[in-house]
Amino acid sequence: MRIAISGAGIAGPTLAYWLLRGGHETTLIEKSPQLRTGGYVIDFWGLGYDIAERMGLSAQLDVAGYQVEEVRLVDRRGDRVGGFPTSGFGRALGGRFTSVPRGDLAAMIHGAIADDVETIFGDTITKVSQDDSGIQLELEHGGSSDFDLLVGADGLHSPVRRLIFGPESMFEHDLGFRVAAFEARGYRPRDELVYVSHGLPRRMVSRFTMRDDRTIFLLVFTADQVRGPEPARINEVKALLHDVFADSGWESRQILAALDSADDVYYDRVCQIRMDEWCNGRVALIGDAAAAVSLLAGEGTGLAMLEAYVLAGEIDRTGAEFATAFGRYQQSLGPFIAGKQRAAERFASSFAPRTAAGVWARNRLSRLLSYRGVGDWMIQRQLHDDFRLPDYAAS
Ligand SMILES: Cc1cc2nc3c(=O)[nH]c(=O)nc-3n(C[C@H](O)[C@H](O)[C@H](O)COP(=O)(O)OP(=O)(O)OC[C@H]3O[C@@H](n4cnc5c(N)ncnc54)[C@H](O)[C@@H]3O)c2cc1C
Repeated sequence: MRIAISGAGIAGPTLAYWLLRGGHETTLIEKSPQLRTGGYVIDFWGLGYDIAERMGLSAQLDVAGYQVEEVRLVDRRGDRVGGFPTSGFGRALGGRFTSVPRGDLAAMIHGAIADDVETIFGDTITKVSQDDSGIQLELEHGGSSDFDLLVGADGLHSPVRRLIFGPESMFEHDLGFRVAAFEARGYRPRDELVYVSHGLPRRMVSRFTMRDDRTIFLLVFTADQVRGPEPARINEVKALLHDVFADSGWESRQILAALDSADDVYYDRVCQIRMDEWCNGRVALIGDAAAAVSLLAGEGTGLAMLEAYVLAGEIDRTGAEFATAFGRYQQSLGPFIAGKQRAAERFASSFAPRTAAGVWARNRLSRLLSYRGVGDWMIQRQLHDDFRLPDYAAS
């Protein structure tokens, strides 16, 4: 079949990879003029890691990834008040856990298909018409093209979802936080392979030291601190972050100074996408477009790859019976993903507690993860994926 995929992030190129192996012809349509490299760092493990291994990406992951050694929680003075060594994660996952810039992983996946799959950069789908014989897409810059299927892999604010299923407000579940991330060069101090985080009631600011003298910062805060409309321009985002983090202690002054020099600041609502149906006619959604779990799950990337892998496998298994493939895709993954979304929502209160007592309790509790017995049990419980990866090649 000829399959168009909107979005060349994580899910889109993963889908293209597995469809290509099934002999399908795919075209990726990506809004950005080129693949975005770098960006915030994601924890990568579990089913996503398994799929990356099956795609032959292990060696590249080893090179691009960081083996974080410690999560350190600090107070206003920078004194350690909680945290844990990450060796328990290594034990629980057999060493198959890494932290990698999201853009580097996206580039790795795209690199695996770039020679065989057409990618149209700098364009976007503006109109979709479908009937029994196929689907016709109109692109903003490139006329129209015919395909058999369209897959929306265009992220949290998916335009394909908007065009086919309805406005974002119908499916967005706001978890009540806002997140910002940016990168700086030459920031001091550096703590190699330590994720350092400072939590206050309703706010959290963290930094992670990267190669090439770079540091990535992550700032999370409760949505009630946004007074007025959501900031749209970079200067408005910076002003809001200054307001929220001004008197936060620790390194907040230096971090806000670094923010002022940043050319690119990521800012968004922390939300999930919850839909009863991921498919409509000849159109399917995958990744954040279908079922964003949010950064609180720490697994959105792996789940996006899982959805791509399963959808491609079901399309392969059922041949031209795409409606059957779509049904099986949703049936096999829907309940599992919904469970992940519920777990992420439960975790929200310990991510950025609302009171000083809550921050204190979270910090104390985090120390339990340092103990081999109880810590390993908690990590296993938290990270266990209750889903068996199908082996489509064998079916
Ligand atoms: C701050 C933060 C921290 C996170 N931490 C983790 C973590 O630790 N572990 C983890 O697993 N996950 C994490 N996540 C979640 C993870 O980033 C996402 O779940 C994952 O990137 C989803 O992949 P995707 O391919 O569905 O969407 P994306 O990666 O968002 O890719 C979507 C693509 O579609 C493109 N696009 C957008 N609009 C259009 C359009 N109109 N036309 C064509 N293309 C378009 C975009 O440019 C992009 O390339 C985090 C997310 C955030 C925000």
